[in-house]
Amino acid sequence: MYNVRENLLRIRQSLPAGVKLVAVSKFHPEDYIMAAYEEGQRIFGESHEQELQRKHETLPKDIEWHFIGHLQTNKVKYIAPYISMVEAVDSLKLLREIDKQAARCGRTISVLLELHIAEEATKYGLTLDACRQLLAGGEWRQLQHVRICGLMMMASFVEDPEQWRREFTAAADFFDEVKAQYFADDPGFCERSWGMSSDYAVAVECRSTMVRVGTTIFGPRVY
Ligand SMILES: *Cc1c(COP(=O)(O)O)cnc(C)c1O
Repeated sequence: MYNVRENLLRIRQSLPAGVKLVAVSKFHPEDYIMAAYEEGQRIFGESHEQELQRKHETLPKDIEWHFIGHLQTNKVKYIAPYISMVEAVDSLKLLREIDKQAARCGRTISVLLELHIAEEATKYGLTLDACRQLLAGGEWRQLQHVRICGLMMMASFVEDPEQWRREFTAAADFFDEVKAQYFADDPGFCERSWGMSSDYAVAVECRSTMVRVGTTIFGPRVY
């Protein structure tokens, strides 16, 4: 097995106090997850609904699963009974569906709004203006079964730490803007989820509170 335990402990030691580690276990087998679990890791990130479903069924029930990928609205119902956080909410439609399915389960589900700041032309994530519009619309305030806990984003897939830094800083500044405007009285709006294997060290310098690390813990993914 890849050196899961050593890698995990090394990363944990390098993170400032208060930064949460999401161990991104997508495409990795259950015994890798258990190795991390036995070192005390409880937050794991997955991005495919069926894979998550299978792992959730067989692995310990005190694992907090974060859905970190693009979630289709028609898949929400499958994970709503147990998902701990949906990290990549990028539409009001998805937010409404999470609220609806959480209500059916008698739960409240934590979510992050996903920003699109990177230069790549991906179709996922809210531009800053789209995020402002979603919040200004106010409908989210009526959704009693979702809790908006902060923002999530991915930096550009380039090997340029200065570009990562610009993008993370833009996200951190935007966090301050919406915190002041909409969540000043809500201590639960506190998460800034940025940083992956290549860039998490830069991300924590740019006020990340939650890094999502896969490859550096579990090794290369076998697709
Ligand atoms: C896969 C994935 C990660 C982890 O990527 P690594 O480079 O393996 O650390 C983090 N965030 C999201 C959204 C992902 O899809």
